[in-house]
Amino acid sequence: MPDLLALSPAAFCDALRREGISRFCLTWDDAAGAVRASHPFVAPLARFFEGDARDFDRHEGVFVQVAPGTGVLQSAAVHRTCRGQAAGGVRFWTYATVEDFLRDGLRLARGMTLKNALAGLWWGGGKGVMARGTGLDAPGATPGATPGAAAADVRRRIYEEYGAFMSSLRGCYVTAEDVGTNVDDMAAIFSRTRFTTCIPPALGGSGNPSVPTALGVVRGMEAALRHRGMGDLEGKTVAIMGLGNVGAPMVGFLRDRRVGRVVGTDIDPRRLEELRAAYPDVALDLRVVGRDDHSILAVPADIVAPCATGGVLGPATIPDLAAPIVCGAANNQLEDPARDDVPLQARDVTYLPDFLVNRMGIVNCADEQAGFVDGDAAFERHLGTEWDNSIYNLALAVLDEAARSGRTPHRVALDLAEARSLETHPIHGHRGREIIRSLVAAGWGRS
Ligand code: NAD
Repeated sequence: MPDLLALSPAAFCDALRREGISRFCLTWDDAAGAVRASHPFVAPLARFFEGDARDFDRHEGVFVQVAPGTGVLQSAAVHRTCRGQAAGGVRFWTYATVEDFLRDGLRLARGMTLKNALAGLWWGGGKGVMARGTGLDAPGATPGATPGAAAADVRRRIYEEYGAFMSSLRGCYVTAEDVGTNVDDMAAIFSRTRFTTCIPPALGGSGNPSVPTALGVVRGMEAALRHRGMGDLEGKTVAIMGLGNVGAPMVGFLRDRRVGRVVGTDIDPRRLEELRAAYPDVALDLRVVGRDDHSILAVPADIVAPCATGGVLGPATIPDLAAPIVCGAANNQLEDPARDDVPLQARDVTYLPDFLVNRMGIVNCADEQAGFVDGDAAFERHLGTEWDNSIYNLALAVLDEAARSGRTPHRVALDLAEARSLETHPIHGHRGREIIRSLVAAGWGRS
């Protein structure tokens, strides 16, 4: 029996095929306090979940398939559904091992539980993860495609298969766009399921949610400046790590607020060229960096905004942080959430948790489900100062409470989000858990 966790996702797919397994699930049995595996072969993964104190956190269900046509490893992690269906995006990413693949889904799904609860949405938390380099996405598997990136028709099939996978889950998880996916991918998913958001506007959806996400993060920056008595954004220097779908429009919102200078890095030189062309009137200081280059975090600035990948704030970067404020869009910025908020506080760095300030993407998705209203008050209130749960007001309240109590802002926001995530939907309270029970009873993955 191989160590399943140490296998590469591609080797794991091969192992599952040899066992005749195309789908499996790992579900939390509350009464027994144990994780149930749908197949004995994957029971070691259930034991791994049970022994994990960091990411598992009693996920209600984790569903995995080797897509029947394209052979890509696809998954959906459903963390907590007290407030409603688990909602969060699906990412197509490269993972060295099965453990990395599973952990990313768990971490991100839990983050969605916190984000949705803190935003006051009637949604639980979930996340989809697909492994690059598996099936027809593997290097050389589709002639004409660049290595590790499937050709367009194969890519469409990969997302169609993810849509069919969503339908099989009966709505316990509603997917959306995330890193590595775009609205065309969402259209492909939508062709096989109604359990998705971020659908193209031509099909009745709201499209890419990144622009409102950027504005929400800027509102968080303004709250942090106010908390520190630093005024507003005018004349300030903001350092942005990653100038993609969120980082690029953020520059526009900063320009509107007469920011002094934007320092930015990206690994993709085209992103930087596009940005220079789009904002000739902003003092930009842009650099192309390598994937592991975190030097932007040490740049002298008033605010640093991680808007690329997660896990960038840890022992290697926190001692060199030069900005007094960290407020960015990237999910899971703390390398270890149980550890890294404390040294930030000890260095007197005001850190606003990502799950508080980057909510606007998922708010956009939630409103998409409910139909469209011009100047939608249910949307705008998150960005204003009237509602006590707006990003600005909640960020201020969290920072004030942290200062008063001595707890870190991360801990204050986490405790509030945890408590809210346990509130049950007034009509469909904890229905996601019921759906999962039905799936297990019907032998999901076994038939
Ligand atoms: P994106 O892929 O469009 O942009 C990320 C950018 O970061 C890319 O341009 C990439 O080249 C760059 N990058 C990667 N590694 C880098 C590095 N080491 N240094 C500098 N740049 C690097 O993704 P996005 O949609 O802009 O999302 C950014 C982050 O915000 C992600 O962590 C995402 O999960 C999170 N987020 C996004 C949204 C949204 O609405 N798009 C919502 C909530 C959270």
